[in-house]
Amino acid sequence: MARIGVFICWCGENIARNVDVEQAATQVAELPGVACALAYKYMCSDPGQSLIRQKIASEHLTGIVVASCSPHMHLRTFRKAAAAEGLNPYLVEMANIREHCSWVHHDRAEATAKAVELIRMAVAKVRCDHALQPIAIPVTRRALVIGGGVAGIQAALDIADAGYQVVVVEREPSIGGKMAGLSETFPTLDCSQCILTPRMVDVGQHPNITLHTYSEVESVEGYLGNFKVTIRKKARYVDVAKCTGCGQCWNACPSKKTPSAFDYNMGTRTAIYVPFPQAVPARPVIDRNACLHFLKGKCGVCAKKCQAGAINYEDQDTSVVEEVGAVVVATGFQLYQIGKERNGDGTVGYGEYGYGEYPDVIDSLQFERLVSASGPTGGEIRRPSDGQVPKTVVFISCVGSRDNAKGLSYCSKICCMYTAKHTMLYKHKVHDGTAHVFYMDIRAGGKNYDEFVRRAIEQDGAQYHRGRVSKITQENGRLIVRGVDTLVGEPLTVEADLVVLASAMRPADGVEPLAQKLNVGYDENGFLSESHPKLRPVETNAAGVFVCGACQGPKDIPESVAQATAAAGKVLVMFGHEKLAREPEIAKVNETNCAACFTCVRACPYTAIEKAEIRDRKGNLVKRTARVNQGLCMGCGTCVALCPSKSVDIEGFTEQQVYAMLESLE
Ligand code: SF4
Ligand code: SF4
Ligand code: SF4
Ligand code: SF4
Repeated sequence: MARIGVFICWCGENIARNVDVEQAATQVAELPGVACALAYKYMCSDPGQSLIRQKIASEHLTGIVVASCSPHMHLRTFRKAAAAEGLNPYLVEMANIREHCSWVHHDRAEATAKAVELIRMAVAKVRCDHALQPIAIPVTRRALVIGGGVAGIQAALDIADAGYQVVVVEREPSIGGKMAGLSETFPTLDCSQCILTPRMVDVGQHPNITLHTYSEVESVEGYLGNFKVTIRKKARYVDVAKCTGCGQCWNACPSKKTPSAFDYNMGTRTAIYVPFPQAVPARPVIDRNACLHFLKGKCGVCAKKCQAGAINYEDQDTSVVEEVGAVVVATGFQLYQIGKERNGDGTVGYGEYGYGEYPDVIDSLQFERLVSASGPTGGEIRRPSDGQVPKTVVFISCVGSRDNAKGLSYCSKICCMYTAKHTMLYKHKVHDGTAHVFYMDIRAGGKNYDEFVRRAIEQDGAQYHRGRVSKITQENGRLIVRGVDTLVGEPLTVEADLVVLASAMRPADGVEPLAQKLNVGYDENGFLSESHPKLRPVETNAAGVFVCGACQGPKDIPESVAQATAAAGKVLVMFGHEKLAREPEIAKVNETNCAACFTCVRACPYTAIEKAEIRDRKGNLVKRTARVNQGLCMGCGTCVALCPSKSVDIEGFTEQQVYAMLESLE
């Protein structure tokens, strides 16, 4: 005989303002199986939980309903309270009378009636509940970090320093990411490479870190705690184990110079190259599209020069399989492709700025390489067209950001700050130069950020003009920047020697197929989706997969590092257990009834249902059936809806329960 306790929360004024909680308690006390019903100001508070526990004991309750906020907020709280009193926690149900009722209705009588209906449904459900046990899943205490930029580096080091093995996969020949190519960083102006390279070295030398550079994740199988990841290692044509990094090969390579991707095509490299001097690993790769051996079938200079015998022209792509328990995605960002990406109407975004047409119109990462001591000009700011020092530079912010019509709808968050930094770096190197900035607003939220922008304007004399640039043309070797200063309400034309476009931040190429391999959601811009923006900011809806850095949304370095440490912390919480407990509310196949049509196998968005065979003791096939992988099932219910023989149910949310809830409605 069911004895159900109903506990109705006021949530202070949140619920009690629009729902007559006492009247609701009186009404639901009459429902069949309800042993007691009472209202209290804050059910989630310690006294509220104690009240629930007292009633479980004194009324010998067999199930409870807490009518309060969303189960996302406090289901765990109430389940713990019930378990502490010896009641199976899966005999606790919640009726959401706050988000689904008091917050959205203003007529008190109607809201109270609806609250009673919601509670009635929860009571009907709990009457059909039965005790469940959490699912125990073994965990491989080894992590995979995808992406070797600053976020990936931080996450890998945090996990490795805690004593666990980490596998890092980076698609470029070296770790370091975008930060390795920056000159100085806001708001402190410390040298980017000086603060990053010690951490890169730590990753390269850490006994707990296995580094796969020039490699990509090919496929991911498995589930929380038990992933099997196939990694494709691209042919380097250099045996990293033999190579000493002496540099004889690239110094002698006679190939035609190739634009250097690390310098964003502002400098060149040979066919055999390391991307930058502090690369980790400091071992070269051969670009077969530039190598004379591969293009013309002759050369071999690098092989002759290499004393270590490390050159291997026969090298092939290989695959390795790594078994890990958790995955951290830190694939970073790339810039919006000015003048290449198409708008909704088919026109090219920002084609009017002449990027790609005029050599002296460059983007922000190219400017970083111009300013960097390791860059193609050795840190001297010179025009790409003729090597002259530019005396007037125009910086344009929000190129691609905050512009639904031409680019991307969101704010890239870092452009205001790095543009201020660029004006300072420019003025520090070209004392008699003038820096103009065209901006929409200045967004400088962050510790010491606003002060930094003020410094650029007040101390270093950057001339800020609030307004958009409509067109850039070239006349007599100079760039004519036509815009408007909306604060004075007049058109403004600046003759410039160099224009720097603060291009929007967008997720790195290839993140969407990677997200699909990992079953991680992503938004319309391709940024990976976190489980909850406030409460679960580094978790994803794929259990065991975490995100950090700019793959999740525009972010600066401090935020990326903080988020990486948070993701590592989540991994370490997982690794603190030998087995992971999963909630048991997932699909279960009635194998006796299953018709083996495998509709569910094809439909499951998480590939959580497998084809299985039931055999007798002699090994003879008795029947085929669908079987749920408890590690993978997310309890979405797709299979339940599609199974023609009604052989699948969600534990704790069975068809019987759903019908009981519907039938309880008056
Ligand atoms: Fe490595 Fe040989 Fe080149 Fe030296 S010459 S960097 S050992 S591949
Ligand atoms: Fe350069 Fe290729 Fe010749 Fe080696 S074989 S030296 S990589 S062109
Ligand atoms: Fe069995 Fe239903 Fe899946 Fe078909 S859809 S295989 S009957 S569980
Ligand atoms: Fe797959 Fe969803 Fe069914 Fe689980 S409930 S087996 S995730 S379709």
